[in-house]
Amino acid sequence: MKKHIFNPGPCKLPEPVLENTANAVRELNQSGMSVMEVSHRGKDFEAVMEDAMSLLKELLDVPRGYSVLFLGGGASLQFAMIPMNFLKTKAAYLHTGTWAGNAIREAKVFGQVDVLASSEDKNFTYVPKGYRIPEDADYFHITTNNTIFGTEMLTDPDSPVPLIADMSSDILSRPVDVSKYAMIYGGAQKNMGPAGVTFIIIWDELLEKVADRPIPRILKYETHLSKGSMFNTPPVVNVYAVRETLLWVKNMGGVKEMEKLAKARADLLYKTIDESRMFVGTAVQEDRSRMNICFVMKPEYKELEPDFISYAAAKGIVGIKGHRSVGGFRASCYNALELQSVKLLADTMKEYEANKVK
Ligand code: PMP
Repeated sequence: MKKHIFNPGPCKLPEPVLENTANAVRELNQSGMSVMEVSHRGKDFEAVMEDAMSLLKELLDVPRGYSVLFLGGGASLQFAMIPMNFLKTKAAYLHTGTWAGNAIREAKVFGQVDVLASSEDKNFTYVPKGYRIPEDADYFHITTNNTIFGTEMLTDPDSPVPLIADMSSDILSRPVDVSKYAMIYGGAQKNMGPAGVTFIIIWDELLEKVADRPIPRILKYETHLSKGSMFNTPPVVNVYAVRETLLWVKNMGGVKEMEKLAKARADLLYKTIDESRMFVGTAVQEDRSRMNICFVMKPEYKELEPDFISYAAAKGIVGIKGHRSVGGFRASCYNALELQSVKLLADTMKEYEANKVK
């Protein structure tokens, strides 16, 4: 049975990405070798890496003076590398959820951290506003989409200090004004490909602001930039799949088209939730994420939640169980998820409700 994959990441990937990557695993460019067997320094793989970098720049309209890296270690390694490299005296962070909290925790290892605002008081159901960014902070860190709690910042904020954003779960879902950021990073495993590779878009001038502390070579951005992401052996299959995913986004019409599709998916699900007598959204309306749509059953139906998950699973709908810190359901609607899958989920919710609510 066809599965409708609402997993939060790793998640649904486009069919051509799976097919082309599988083919390259069998044989890369009639080389008689798999992408796993060729040298990462040979011309075939170098072309893949260069393509991936230039496609990401093209899709996000990255201005001159920025570089792209593909590294290992996930977004979580960046939580540590960022303060290790750039926190001299103090850094400012916005606390909007579990991942932001993890980033804050790592930064505290290296210096003073000013948490400018937090939405923890309401279980991260909103994105704080009205905070002031201190001009003497080394940088300001935000998480644009909070994967677990289903909130998202859909505009690029102004910041008087270098702005660094974790865009793990909403990269490539809308146009971004990259010039407002000193760094954008994330794990690839939502909109950019499989897990195991991290994308980094970094403003070259940020390298002039490196903290004066001993940093192992492999943990310095400068090391990776000077070697074009080839300081050590990159995750070759993953980079191949990222290249294919970026090509797919381009062929689909780019990030503007991705944004249209993201809006269509989210509008349909939120409309279904808002019109329901059984389901209710958890995030405040103005900060609702287009990527991770979180909802629960109203208290009088709460005990039916596990039953609904089984009911949906019988139709091939997988991955909708909410994270334990929110409960209920989370429908993750990343770029590769077809609108048809979202329609099926919406219809299934309506059908289930009609059976149970008399
Ligand atoms: N940031 C966000 C917003 C995430 O959603 C995740 C993982 N889902 C992470 C960071 C951690 O990423 P990784 O597992 O690649 O370290």
